[in-house]
Amino acid sequence: MNTMELDQAYVAHTYKRFPLEIVSGSGSLVKDAAGKEYIDMGSGIAVTSFGIADEAWVGAVEEQLHRVQHMSNLYYTAPCARLAEALCRRTGMSRVFFSNSGAEANECAVKIARKWAAENKSPDCSVIVTLRNSFHGRTLTTLAATGQDHFHQLFQPLTPGFAHIAPGDLDALESLCEGDKVAAVLIECVQGEGGVVPLDPAFAQKLEAFCRSRNLLLMVDEVQTGNGRTGKLYAYMHYGLHPDVVSTAKGLAGGLPMGATLMSDRVKDVLSYGDHGSTFGGNPVCAAGALSVLDRLTEDFLQQVSEKAALLRSLLEGAPGIQSVTGLGLMLGLKTDRPAPEVIAGCMERGVLCLSAKDKVRLLPALNIPEELLRRAAEVIRSVCKP
Ligand SMILES: *Cc1c(COP(=O)(O)O)cnc(C)c1O
Repeated sequence: MNTMELDQAYVAHTYKRFPLEIVSGSGSLVKDAAGKEYIDMGSGIAVTSFGIADEAWVGAVEEQLHRVQHMSNLYYTAPCARLAEALCRRTGMSRVFFSNSGAEANECAVKIARKWAAENKSPDCSVIVTLRNSFHGRTLTTLAATGQDHFHQLFQPLTPGFAHIAPGDLDALESLCEGDKVAAVLIECVQGEGGVVPLDPAFAQKLEAFCRSRNLLLMVDEVQTGNGRTGKLYAYMHYGLHPDVVSTAKGLAGGLPMGATLMSDRVKDVLSYGDHGSTFGGNPVCAAGALSVLDRLTEDFLQQVSEKAALLRSLLEGAPGIQSVTGLGLMLGLKTDRPAPEVIAGCMERGVLCLSAKDKVRLLPALNIPEELLRRAAEVIRSVCKP
């Protein structure tokens, strides 16, 4: 059997894969089994921050592989400690818990909020409020956090203690706070899976003020938006927010599984010995990959991300067949005249790999994609979208 047949036979059918087998790549170019080349405008869903097999990143990861590939969390390892320091220095946060995915990073955030509220508000103050149309992960708890009913239906009962409000609806939050059962609010600054929808900055500001006035934790899910994706290290920095907890994953380690939950000074001591753990969390190889990514996300580099984002936007905005372009930085959603799946299939045929998010075409190229490839990809997208 070939790869597709084996996969069909033996891998759970949870992904509707395209009939395309990727065998190799370099930077923002990938090759399929027949040797056809594609411009990668998805970077593994915002994961391969510096593209495929980036030399500096491979070097950092390989060096650590030859030293020690894993140690239990009973002992210290340098990459984990240094990465935590770097994340705290760059954000002003105080402590980090490492895990292996975005869902786990959010699970940790929920545990922090619940324990913090039990100790600082009241034992039954446990509700986490999230936004409608949000996405926070696939575990039973992060599904409960996810504000989209269709994810919930087949998996009841989910973890209790979650409520959802429409973005902008502070009155709804106010009502939920009656009885003092709300511990925290968890938001995405740009809803990714929800269709690349940025949060209204005025609402974000009001929400933070509300959280402060009611003594609620403000937690930001930066799993997709984080690590330079939007042109700042984290998207909350565009919004002038001061979150108590930040979760991140996807692009953090540049292609290795790693999640991180950043804690502000206010909550840094909430989790103590035995409260949480992860066998692989803070794995030294993943941490070495993340350190290499973070080291390169300098202010200069982030400025280049913003410039590339502006270029890509200008090439697509107002093009015939493209109704709107939403998003922030190199995280863009296109509403197109043709249905998104048709556009994506057309682009694939012409050598450009795009993603979808709800009814939109979603673009999440590597942060270091060369301008020339961006222009070529935009040209293909434009011509496929043209009525
Ligand atoms: C992808 C994503 C998650 C889930 O991350 P996994 O690594 O798949 O568990 C959570 N939140 C947001 C905003 C995401 O985009």
